[in-house]
Amino acid sequence: MQYKRILLKLSGEALMGDKQFGIDNDRITQYATQIKEIVDLGVEVAIVIGGGNIFRGVQAEQGGMDRTHGDYMGMLATMINAMALQSALEAQDIKTRLQSAIEMKEIAEPYIRRKAVRHLEKGRVVIFGAGTGNPFFTTDSAASLRAIEIEADVILKGTRVDGIYTADPEKDANAEKFDNISFDDVYAKGLNVMDMTAFTLCKENDLPIVVFDMNTPGNLRRVVEGDQVGTLVN
Ligand code: UDP
Repeated sequence: MQYKRILLKLSGEALMGDKQFGIDNDRITQYATQIKEIVDLGVEVAIVIGGGNIFRGVQAEQGGMDRTHGDYMGMLATMINAMALQSALEAQDIKTRLQSAIEMKEIAEPYIRRKAVRHLEKGRVVIFGAGTGNPFFTTDSAASLRAIEIEADVILKGTRVDGIYTADPEKDANAEKFDNISFDDVYAKGLNVMDMTAFTLCKENDLPIVVFDMNTPGNLRRVVEGDQVGTLVN
């Protein structure tokens, strides 16, 4: 096994599947199935989930809303996704705990690092909801921060693209994929892996990132087993 403790980052948009908004049940079940495969292998799994399928503060601001207000709404959106994912995981008999960066004691534990680590050691999947709890950040930043705090071996960024390319492969047919790239080369080439705050946090704390296609069943297991899947940034 290449990685013993991972932080899996899933975007909110990925949960939409082929829908235009909200949560696609088939997609979330497919994700839960992949997560179960690695839990069964004994990998410790923490998850940060986005909220872009429901609400984003930046877009709300463009519509005239106060940014801070919109960002808090975005953080609440991540909790809706986190609860949906929790339910999908539990439907597959996976033990889970949801911890929120904004206190919501009826539905989630507060974020307590030591408790999160304890859950992981006991084989529970820990979902971190509500991002960092602060406006002007993203769930990518939350993923970097939590991964460093719990001493994860890696951040696995599950997307619909199978890695990092020289250009956007959905727009440029000549785009070439990297199997491996350094943090410095990502900066030098101006590639978009995560937002800069999140990315810099990973670089400064020597936390590798793997960007891979989460929509292909079995890929998550292949990444944790060390197969060449996606792009490794280190
Ligand atoms: N957000 C925030 N602080 C955080 C994490 C998220 O304010 O620490 C808000 C922000 O408005 C963001 C929204 O929550 O747009 C949803 O998160 P994100 O856009 O990162 O989700 P994703 O793109 O992964 O679906």
